[in-house]
Amino acid sequence: MAHSAKLRLENLSMTFATPTGSFQALAPVNLDIATGKFVSLIGPSGCGKSTIFNIVAGLQIPSGGRVRIDGEDATGTIGRVGYMLQKDLLLPWRTVVDNIVLGMEIQGVPPREARDRALPYMKRYGLGGFENQYPSALSGGMRQRAALLRTLLLDNDVVLLDEPFGALDAQTKSQMQEWLLQIWADFGKTIIFVTHDVDESIYLSDEVCVMGTRPGRVIERMTVPLARPRPRSVVTHPDFIAMKQECMDLLNQQYAKPELAEAV
Ligand code: ADP
Ligand code: MG
Repeated sequence: MAHSAKLRLENLSMTFATPTGSFQALAPVNLDIATGKFVSLIGPSGCGKSTIFNIVAGLQIPSGGRVRIDGEDATGTIGRVGYMLQKDLLLPWRTVVDNIVLGMEIQGVPPREARDRALPYMKRYGLGGFENQYPSALSGGMRQRAALLRTLLLDNDVVLLDEPFGALDAQTKSQMQEWLLQIWADFGKTIIFVTHDVDESIYLSDEVCVMGTRPGRVIERMTVPLARPRPRSVVTHPDFIAMKQECMDLLNQQYAKPELAEAV
């Protein structure tokens, strides 16, 4: 049933005016995401992943179509979703806890209450003892965890994460994935996750949407056929391998497009 979707993209399209004419970044995209799901978007750079997020977050108005949250038209409405931008930085002049409560403060939560809400999670997620330090004292993984916590502590049940682990080393990245799955289970949020990493998208998600370019669109939506909790060794499961192969084939078709080869 269409209206039971938590998040619904209806014929969402985006055309940008550029000095060389108009550029269609998104062809009409239709997507329903059910409550509490973890859904990944993967696709080549420039296929419109961040544009979809900007539109869902209400920061950009689509050229066509609409965004629905709980069935309600939320197109162009800011503040309905938690959004962690691709380069979400901590403010160096605020302490770690003050960075984490920043989003809540912007949403109008009184500072004291925001702190009280944040502190137990900081302890629980390995940031205990760093509350009053500055971000420069944190490792890359800890910084990322603080930025994620800032987003996840918001009162929004839909959270958009744009390549949150893109810049981390493999070891830190896999720890962060475990942490994110734990926090997803704790908070019961609906998460949409952008990544370039096919393994990561399958390992984390209930569903993977493979996107294509020129114009950006969803070319395939796949359900991950693996029970949770998933051991890390799930990457050797035949169903994992088969799904990965299918994703890679779809992505390779996109990269093989002649107009992209030219651009590279
Ligand atoms: P992705 O996040 O998948 O890498 P984006 O959503 O950032 O892709 O961008 C999709 C396409 O739209 C890219 O070709 C990008 O250059 C173009 N684009 C994004 N924002 C603008 C803008 N404000 N004006 C013109 N073109 C844009
Ligand atoms: Mg992007």
